[in-house]
Amino acid sequence: MQPMNTIQLSVIIPVYNEEEGLQTLFDRLYPALDKLGISFEIVFINDGSRDRSAAILREQFQARPDVTRVVLFNGNFGQHMAIMAGFEQSRGQRVVTLDADLQNPPEDIGLLLAKMDEGHDYVGSIRRQRNDSWWRHVASRAMNNLRERITRIKMTDQGCMFRAYDRVIIEAINSCHEVNTFIPALAYSFARNPAEVVVGHDERIAGESKYSLYSLIRLNFDLMTGFSLVPLQMFSMAGMLTSVISGLFFILLVVRRLVIGPEAEGLFTLFALVFFMIGITLFGIGLLGEYVGRIYQQVRHRPRYLVEAVLEKQDAGARIQDPVKNGAAGL
Ligand code: UDP
Ligand code: MG
Repeated sequence: MQPMNTIQLSVIIPVYNEEEGLQTLFDRLYPALDKLGISFEIVFINDGSRDRSAAILREQFQARPDVTRVVLFNGNFGQHMAIMAGFEQSRGQRVVTLDADLQNPPEDIGLLLAKMDEGHDYVGSIRRQRNDSWWRHVASRAMNNLRERITRIKMTDQGCMFRAYDRVIIEAINSCHEVNTFIPALAYSFARNPAEVVVGHDERIAGESKYSLYSLIRLNFDLMTGFSLVPLQMFSMAGMLTSVISGLFFILLVVRRLVIGPEAEGLFTLFALVFFMIGITLFGIGLLGEYVGRIYQQVRHRPRYLVEAVLEKQDAGARIQDPVKNGAAGL
């Protein structure tokens, strides 16, 4: 194993059913990194792909064993868990995360590193011109706004995973063992001097987005409930406000009863009001459930992901390391 400080850059790439695009990724990524003239390693994490991705990664490992490492998961644990595993395996002084679909040009890695040279420990990215479907633009802008208000995290473009982190931040993340998390936000909370740069954004070269509307909603719940208590606190505020108002309303009704006598007008207005309150209450219970669920998952201490094998170069040439049984060592 190489000592940690000899590698300057680790590039971490989660891969899930990307067989059509992988070769193009290799053809652009390796030359781009060779050109930087620094020592680097590329860590691919196969997130339980059901296509030929694992086999293609294996071949690539054999072609460039000096700079390639491959972590093979034994199931699909999600993009953020894959990146977590990559962080744990990485040895570089700086770590860049990149998607496998070439939506972010690997040639722009130099831009992130140049920004880090200015003394930043976290460099996020802003997509110059985003090439995604229109509803992703709209939803993403709305969630960005909401997040800005309820968390302390300032990110112009939260959806973009193309980011660079200093080793200090990676170590902090590695010690966290969060179950459902949003890596750019977690990293941001540890950053001392974050910055952002503008990078290119293209359409997917092949395959399709792995995120459905449902998983995007889930991801945003992770972001909101994982980094802020404001949603819960809003409910105590709303509760307080309604009890004050209904208290006043009660006094008013008692006075009316005494002055005017019994009356049964405005019944349907009352219904509307009650249904509205029931809606808010149900949402509140659901929100509470989000937090309880997070606590539940966290206290179970189950492994966050399972690693089937790690392909990496040993001193005596390339060979396959013994399967690692539990990727969540230390959990
Ligand atoms: N990915 C993954 N596991 C998953 C879903 C996605 O490792 O369960 C990887 C995927 O291969 C890609 C990256 O995460 O490298 C981003 O996925 P995608 O491009 O589908 O997301 P989008 O760009 O649409 O947000
Ligand atoms: Mg993508």
